Amino acid sequence: MDTKAFIALEEEYGAHNYHPLDVVIARGEGVWVYDVEGRKYLDCLSAYSAVNQGHVHPRILAALVEQAGRVTLTSRAFRNDQLPLLYKELSELTGYGMSLPMNSGAEAVETAVKLARKWAYQVKGVPRHKAEIVVCAGNFHGRTTTIVSFSTEPLYRDDFGPFTPGFIAVPYGDAAALEKAITSNTAAVLVEPIQGEGGVIVPPAGYLSAVAAACKRHKALCITDEIQTGLGRTGRLFACDHENVRPDVMVIGKAMAGGFYPVSAVLADREILGLFTPGEHGSTFGGNPLAAAVARASLAVIRDEKLSERAFELGNYFMEQLAEIPSPHVREVRGRGLLIGVELKPEAGGARRFCEILRGQGILAKETHDHVIRFAPPLVIDKQTIDWAIPRIRETLNTPI
Ligand SMILES: *Cc1c(COP(=O)(O)O)cnc(C)c1O
Repeated sequence: MDTKAFIALEEEYGAHNYHPLDVVIARGEGVWVYDVEGRKYLDCLSAYSAVNQGHVHPRILAALVEQAGRVTLTSRAFRNDQLPLLYKELSELTGYGMSLPMNSGAEAVETAVKLARKWAYQVKGVPRHKAEIVVCAGNFHGRTTTIVSFSTEPLYRDDFGPFTPGFIAVPYGDAAALEKAITSNTAAVLVEPIQGEGGVIVPPAGYLSAVAAACKRHKALCITDEIQTGLGRTGRLFACDHENVRPDVMVIGKAMAGGFYPVSAVLADREILGLFTPGEHGSTFGGNPLAAAVARASLAVIRDEKLSERAFELGNYFMEQLAEIPSPHVREVRGRGLLIGVELKPEAGGARRFCEILRGQGILAKETHDHVIRFAPPLVIDKQTIDWAIPRIRETLNTPI
């Protein structure tokens, strides 16, 4: 079967909730993926930063295969011999006293929302069912009905109400506006350190520390969604580390399992995460031994291969090279580490067209919002590969409209 045949099948039998580039990937290795015709592409999306460690990382693969041959799922009705080790290693890596494992990022965000509400009622003394959570315009935290209830993107929510109440949106990057929205009923502030899906929006310097300080002043939990920005992507282990901010609650996912498996987690200290009691929350697959073994190997790779440091150095290099490209279409190059957005001028005709040209050049990148091309390759990329990509990106960014 060729590319066309696979696409025809997918269009016929699959729901059309994505608009993928027309490339059918059959194999991946490191920063490269190969389509069904054997063409090779540099992956500049990394599955939205889930494959920071590179495709089919041999160490994670070995952990997966080894664990898959022993036991894969016990449910949390019983204990298993992998999850406690994951807990301990996560705590050593992040400094948080406890964690709660889930599967998808959206589930972990939902978990954090429930946790914040319980904290508000049990600790802060908010009247029951009155808890509010302050969120930011342009946010992306997932696709469940509660999460789209506080999205500000019409496409994500318009046809999906009625919505979960208790969320207040303020402009992103404006700490004063955020502080003004906090009331005695505020359980938490939920913020992305960089808005990835929102178009690689980097907030002004000092924003995250101002948000954390406002939370402290008004006794609200500071929750950061590091699902995309975390685990090395921005050049530090967490994007919050750039401002030495330690949120009360952190949500991680994506690269936590190197693209092999859906694993997410909520991290916090005992005073907060210890509030959950048996039966209040759970997941059949959350914390299963296969997930835990894969996550342990994935976190070890980030640490042992110094992927945060790599993202810092190579991200700076990549961004410099991109910024030097003369192009009539580019408005701005921005980002942090290897999370880079190239924003095009509105008259350039949209980022999608350029992503399609890039695909023809052997580079897979995806538009985020209408006018931004995101460049976020696996963190195992090297300088030579960036040097290979730059002339191709230069040519693409200079195609006439
Ligand atoms: C991807 C993402 C999510 C949702 O994760 P899923 O695993 O797709 O549910 C939430 N928040 C951010 C910032 C993300 O990038």
